[in-house]
Amino acid sequence: MLSRLLLSGFLILIPFSSELGNAGFVQLDGAPPSKIAVVGAGIGGSATAYFLRQHFGPEVRIDVFEKGTVGGRLATVTVNNQDYESGGSIIHSLNLHMQDFVKQLGLKYRKSVAGKMAVFNGEEIILEETDWYLLDLFRLWWRYGISFIRMQMWVEEIMEKFMRIYKYQAHGYAFSSVEELLNSLGGSGFLNMTRRSLSESLLELGVSQRFIDEVISPIMRVNYGQNISIPAFVGAVSLAGAQANLWAVEGGNKLVCSGLLKLAKANLIPAQVTAVSLQTAGESHQYRLGYSSQNEQVSEVYDIVVVATPLQQNVRSGISFQDFDPQFTEMPGSYHQTTASIVHGYLNCSYFGFPDPKLFPFSSILTTDTQGLFFNSVASVCPVNISAGFRRKPPQEAGVYKVFSPRPLEKPELKTLFRSYYSVQVTDWQAYPHYGSAQGLPPVVLHDNLYYLNGIEWAGSAMEMSSVAAKNIALLAYHRWSRQLEMIDQKDLMHKIKTEL
Ligand SMILES: Cc1cc2nc3c(=O)[nH]c(=O)nc-3n(C[C@H](O)[C@H](O)[C@H](O)COP(=O)(O)OP(=O)(O)OC[C@H]3O[C@@H](n4cnc5c(N)ncnc54)[C@H](O)[C@@H]3O)c2cc1C
Repeated sequence: MLSRLLLSGFLILIPFSSELGNAGFVQLDGAPPSKIAVVGAGIGGSATAYFLRQHFGPEVRIDVFEKGTVGGRLATVTVNNQDYESGGSIIHSLNLHMQDFVKQLGLKYRKSVAGKMAVFNGEEIILEETDWYLLDLFRLWWRYGISFIRMQMWVEEIMEKFMRIYKYQAHGYAFSSVEELLNSLGGSGFLNMTRRSLSESLLELGVSQRFIDEVISPIMRVNYGQNISIPAFVGAVSLAGAQANLWAVEGGNKLVCSGLLKLAKANLIPAQVTAVSLQTAGESHQYRLGYSSQNEQVSEVYDIVVVATPLQQNVRSGISFQDFDPQFTEMPGSYHQTTASIVHGYLNCSYFGFPDPKLFPFSSILTTDTQGLFFNSVASVCPVNISAGFRRKPPQEAGVYKVFSPRPLEKPELKTLFRSYYSVQVTDWQAYPHYGSAQGLPPVVLHDNLYYLNGIEWAGSAMEMSSVAAKNIALLAYHRWSRQLEMIDQKDLMHKIKTEL
């Protein structure tokens, strides 16, 4: 039951699309673009390359720059010759772009392996799943009244509206800002949800404070490492990802990124882009990308550029924007640090009140927002390749666990969580936006043909959100290039689409 439950303004001062309308770009003599650059080969950048190829056709050259590893925040670590997801790991059954990628690439689904969940408050387990669905339901009702149903209905309504994006995109409609996109899906209600807190919205719905503290807060801590003051929209994304059938990609989620780059016939350039500068010839604009390759500074000119990596200062993309008037400065806000520690060892079940590990029935422990608690969650994890006879290791055997914490765990903390361990592999992520550290949603259009993908993360950060943004930018770039302005920021799209049929 619980696992079903669980399971701006950019400070750039140039006029953005909202001020320009859609007329602020110039097409180069009606000719198609010859070169497009994408900066970043995470799921956002690789999906952008894939969709750009669909819309601009086979002739255009698409270069994708990656300074690190293809996949970005989709990454694995190896323990005993088996790989485990250390970044983005679970995908919702209604994430239709991710589903489609897996299908196009001939990859396989890896279903979540069943396991029970519990919530720990630093002293004791306060909520636990049992083998009995009805008993769990009864317990939830007994403890929280109808809060659970209220929350469920709220999330379902939001999901239903959000799913409209697939229809809009299938009909070729694009949006010049995250605000326009959200507004077209859920009106001012969606926009307000990016501005007010999750707890405020849930309390207004009649969800009890106790349910928020004991159920919602642990979900926010495991999914976003943050508390219930995060905006309601991202909170709903997080709760949606906790409800239905979850899956992942057999072999690792990052396979989608490398697969999409191949499908897009993109040139992968393993280099860090250091500068994007504006080149003006008459009325037309192009962009010179400076990048470092094998210790050499190289540069090349592109017609269209998509930046598919966060531009906040603490993410350190290392890109400077030059010759734009007015000058670009940096993005407001910061990314939230979450440390993923993959530990191979014996869980200390006594710490959770189970001296005999054989009697410890849980595969994951979430935590409440308790002062002094040094970790957000600990869960037994499955490798990215699961054989037919796979079973989770019981706690009396050494297993592989993922611990999320706000900073790297210190030795005494590891010793608290594990009786003993063979190895610990630490990945320090600038994982997702630190919600509340910036006001407003970043822009999508930075300049005529210069786009920014990761602003969408401030509405919700997930693989599917980056994929939705990728499709939107490919459509937007195409329509702006070919001056099909009627396909951008159209109002009343549901009605329009119905009458188009
Ligand atoms: C610990 C963790 C758990 C998560 N869990 C989930 C989950 O379960 N489900 C889910 O849907 N999402 C999850 N997410 C979120 C999800 O992983 C991200 O939203 C998504 O992967 C972001 O993809 P992206 O392509 O937009 O950005 P990124 O993956 O960050 O890609 C950006 C790429 O750009 C490259 N780059 C940066 N600067 C430059 C430069 N100057 N030149 C060239 N290349 C550059 C980077 O190296 C990087 O590869 C999780 C994230 C983390 C960190």
